[in-house]
Amino acid sequence: MLRTHTCGELRIQDVGKKVILAGWIDRIRDLGGVKFIMLRDRYGLTQVVLSSESQVELRRESVVQIEGVVRERPKETINRDLPTGEVEVVAEKITVFSSPIRDLPFYPGETKLPSEDVRLRYRYIDLRRKEAMDKIIVRHNVAQAVRNYLSSQGFVEVETPFLTKSTPEGARDFLVPSRLKPGTFYALPQSPQLFKQLLMVSGLDRYFQIVRCFRDEDLRADRQPEFTQIDIEMSFNTREDVLQVTESMLRHVFKQVLGLELSGKLDRLTYDYCMNTYGSDKPDRRLGMEFKDVSDCFKDANYHIVSNVLIQGGVVKGFAINDFSEKMTRKLADELDEVAKSLGLGGIMWFAVDQNDTLRGSALKHLEKNYKEIMEKLSMRAKDVFILAVGRNSSVNIVLGEIRKILGERFFSHLKTGFDVFWVIDFPMFEYSEEENRFVAQHHPFTMPNLEDLEKYKDSDLSKIRAQSYDIVINGFEVGSGSVRIHNAELQREVFKLMQLSEEEIRIKFGFLLEAFQYGAPPHGGIALGLDRLVAIICNVSSIRDVIAFPKTSSGVCPLTGAPDVVNERQLKEFKIKVGGD
Ligand code: ASP
Repeated sequence: MLRTHTCGELRIQDVGKKVILAGWIDRIRDLGGVKFIMLRDRYGLTQVVLSSESQVELRRESVVQIEGVVRERPKETINRDLPTGEVEVVAEKITVFSSPIRDLPFYPGETKLPSEDVRLRYRYIDLRRKEAMDKIIVRHNVAQAVRNYLSSQGFVEVETPFLTKSTPEGARDFLVPSRLKPGTFYALPQSPQLFKQLLMVSGLDRYFQIVRCFRDEDLRADRQPEFTQIDIEMSFNTREDVLQVTESMLRHVFKQVLGLELSGKLDRLTYDYCMNTYGSDKPDRRLGMEFKDVSDCFKDANYHIVSNVLIQGGVVKGFAINDFSEKMTRKLADELDEVAKSLGLGGIMWFAVDQNDTLRGSALKHLEKNYKEIMEKLSMRAKDVFILAVGRNSSVNIVLGEIRKILGERFFSHLKTGFDVFWVIDFPMFEYSEEENRFVAQHHPFTMPNLEDLEKYKDSDLSKIRAQSYDIVINGFEVGSGSVRIHNAELQREVFKLMQLSEEEIRIKFGFLLEAFQYGAPPHGGIALGLDRLVAIICNVSSIRDVIAFPKTSSGVCPLTGAPDVVNERQLKEFKIKVGGD
């Protein structure tokens, strides 16, 4: 053994023991007569004392082995911030395994860190920092808790292919050219969706996989082209069964990893309720600020824009923000007005209750005495602000939702503590794609529609058909989504047709699924949860890059390896691929 203890292990009971430690030199303090070294590994830091006679040349971040004896630190040098802070090791022998040949781009032991780009370029140094490495370890603990829980419930982990055919989750595929069949391509899976359904057809009635998925999306700030899902599918179950298994799994994870009990049964909110109350299908409810319809208060208002909207079936809605009047400046109001305009409304109205119940704001002139009614309806008090929007209900929801989000991010991060976990159910089955000029599946086309809705609206208004789908939302993030699936070839074909897929497209893309359904398929359903986001929430960090060992930047580049990169001519020739201009 090259060590007897880790650098996080020695305590006062170990005084007098002969030990061997190994690790990186975090810091050196040279006091002339003696040198103090902070030796670091992933478990912690231990102070080592070297006598002045030692001739070994040491540098920060050298990797060394130290043999010595544990002794109690003098009272005044005890470090209460370190678990090993009551002891130190008096070195008798020191062996240098390797020493940096030049200065490091940054030192993990320093509090001032370089930019994220530099940290990702040298991620192996970045991960020497305990805070960075601990998140990777929490990730392991989460994955382990998931595996243990699901295995204990009879789920079987099955690997599905990475080199496969396109699986439609609504993003672009990453393609891999085939050398043996030039001109053809594998697609990397956007999810194992079709394979997990085929496993249900095989009779493996409880499947899971912690699996990498690939989506070639235009990267937004916190997306990764490859990400990991906890993918689950089960047969002979109702929607309720999937929700319960997922809920119990999350309870187990929070308990195991954080020692925390998620209390009570998780709320189930409908999609319509969320949109009407928070203007989002993944609201952060910790912020409060629920929308209230105050159309009634404007019924007799002498304001033709509002009365016209109301006559046409529109609404006046808004939300109160407690203790915000001092922050509600003209400048902020103008900014929120612009947000509303960019989303298609004329602007917002607002009023603030200043000290002594004096009122201010753009809504006042139209409210006359009605603001009293509004204030009562919303139990508003001094210093509160009320923000209103007028228009079609769906547009008002979107605008207020965006404003709520902006204000939440900027002013109310102190409310974002603890965990708010709940379900959103009854999403619309289809949404209209302006780009494709047809209805597309809101979740994916294998989702079971609400059959009553389907009968009622399939020939009139597809947007009214609800899906048997569900999302799990934690702290304002959609952490997972899933659905009961279609298990009948005829119904599946009908749904494809409603999405205007041609017979030819159906055959090429999904022929194998429809064929499998003809040979006996059980009712089934499932869910996939984003492991990266779940771990980020558990670690209380905003970026999923922090919980991925080697993440890519937001432009899809790996700063460490330089991927994606050009390949040589010979490789391209083997694939019969020519890289041309436009
Ligand atoms: N495959 C879906 C997704 O990746 C999740 C599911 O329906 O299970 O979003």
